[in-house]
Amino acid sequence: MLEYDVIVIGAGVSGACTARELSRFKLKTAVLEKAPDLCAGASKGNSATVHSGHDAAYGTKKALYNVLGNKMYDRLCQELCVPFQRNGTYVFAVTDHDMDELARLKENADRNQVPGVRLLSYPELIRQSPGWSPKVKGALFAPTGGVVCPYSLVFALCANAAENGVDFYRNTEVCGIRKEGGRFFIHTGCGDFSSKYIFNCAGVYADDMNNFVSSRKIRIIPRKGSHIILDKKLAPYVDATLCQPPSVLPGGGHTKGMGLMPTDGGTVLLGCEAVDIGDKTDVSTTRQGLDEILSYFETSWRFLPQSRYFPEFPKNLIIGAFSSVRPHPDTDDFILGEAPDAPGFINIAGFESPGITAAPAVAKDLVRDSAERFGWEPNPGFNPIRKTEKPFREMTEEEMEEAIRQDPDYGKIVCRCEQVTRAEVLRAIRDPLGARTVNEVKMRTRAGMGRCQGGFCSPEIVSILAQELRIPMNQVTLCGAGSEILGKESCLEESQEEKEGSGA
Ligand SMILES: Cc1cc2nc3c(=O)[nH]c(=O)nc-3n(C[C@H](O)[C@H](O)[C@H](O)COP(=O)(O)OP(=O)(O)OC[C@H]3O[C@@H](n4cnc5c(N)ncnc54)[C@H](O)[C@@H]3O)c2cc1C
Repeated sequence: MLEYDVIVIGAGVSGACTARELSRFKLKTAVLEKAPDLCAGASKGNSATVHSGHDAAYGTKKALYNVLGNKMYDRLCQELCVPFQRNGTYVFAVTDHDMDELARLKENADRNQVPGVRLLSYPELIRQSPGWSPKVKGALFAPTGGVVCPYSLVFALCANAAENGVDFYRNTEVCGIRKEGGRFFIHTGCGDFSSKYIFNCAGVYADDMNNFVSSRKIRIIPRKGSHIILDKKLAPYVDATLCQPPSVLPGGGHTKGMGLMPTDGGTVLLGCEAVDIGDKTDVSTTRQGLDEILSYFETSWRFLPQSRYFPEFPKNLIIGAFSSVRPHPDTDDFILGEAPDAPGFINIAGFESPGITAAPAVAKDLVRDSAERFGWEPNPGFNPIRKTEKPFREMTEEEMEEAIRQDPDYGKIVCRCEQVTRAEVLRAIRDPLGARTVNEVKMRTRAGMGRCQGGFCSPEIVSILAQELRIPMNQVTLCGAGSEILGKESCLEESQEEKEGSGA
């Protein structure tokens, strides 16, 4: 039995923010994550938008923490060395009904105290952002909207929490919790843990965790959303997040609006629809979901400024698609704080959009409140700054030469699309919370995220993983057991020992 003061269940954005906040205190803390890697749930597959808070309904926890969380992003990303850009959000109107919606959103934004939101007439819009179709009637502009790489953020939060003393256990699924004598006993597939406090950050499974210990049952409905990824060729023409008011969409009101979003990596996302599903594990992309996005953009493309450069919706720039599942609570608002009949069990549940945006503020408030109540002492050694290496693709020529001089593996490009070097792949694997699969390398380095979607670099990454993990190549997986890339019969089956022995 491993004993801790605090256990955090789940290493998505809410668990990662919570773990880092907890590391500000003198506590023995562990994060239990059921997946082989960190950031395995909704936090890895979303629109990556740091929402301004203009549309979260006034008076809700979502609205409060959206605005508070948004304000924390500049400092947080600076401390953790994570790219973050305040590129602003335009919600545009093409009908009088849409204009009424924009007026309603503006009123809501003002009540939520979102800074700087403006309603722009068409002439004002094109003065600020040229190229919109004359069919557009106006737009709501929210300058504090931004873009972050959500999985880079989660990895950075976890790395910083680990540097400050938090333990991480991957492949560790919580299967049961009971409370006895003032402590929680947590049963996992890999042994048992006990702790005085639990933070429940288990995404779509947060209801199961709560319902183990509380008679106040909660219910999470999985709500799927998909995105289409467009090639970087479009990126120079997309400098802000663009969307229509949610109410004009099929099934409107379930999403924040179908949108076109730049990403920090230079690709562009289109999405996303919202469909309630029965299976929490179903992150498959469907023809129907992708068709919904495509047919929306095929119709509305002509309104957007990008249609000046690409008159037709550029289907040929589609390089990929993904789906993810929102943890939608049947109460329609975040479920935050201590379960009323389970002291010490703290929920961050029903944490759907704007969860990426809100997580830093939610974690800060809940941990601070707990510290006050339970008398936790500050950790004098806490260091908020995470040291990182600059990615090779962002180095100047002099910096590249120096990096190669110090480590020749910087001179070997593994992923041509994203300019990722062998040195960076090795670092991603050797890191204390390092990559063990091809997807994990991809999420830490961007190798495989470019135009060819891993067509060129995957074999090399499989080979590096096999060498570093000292396993045969046919045991290297895409994303954990059951996703082995090379068949058992493959001629590449020879073990690493054999390969080394043969001098290959
Ligand atoms: C399509 C889509 C678009 C979105 N767009 C945005 C956006 O643009 N901006 C925004 O702010 N928000 C957005 N969101 C919402 C945001 O992604 C979520 O609010 C946020 O990621 C939830 O984070 P989390 O850490 O609570 O949950 P998750 O990221 O799901 O993490 C939960 C973790 O818990 C682990 N876990 C589950 N059960 C167990 C168990 N029994 N034992 C151990 N570990 C367990 C999981 O493996 C997972 O890693 C979007 C969501 C979706 C699906």
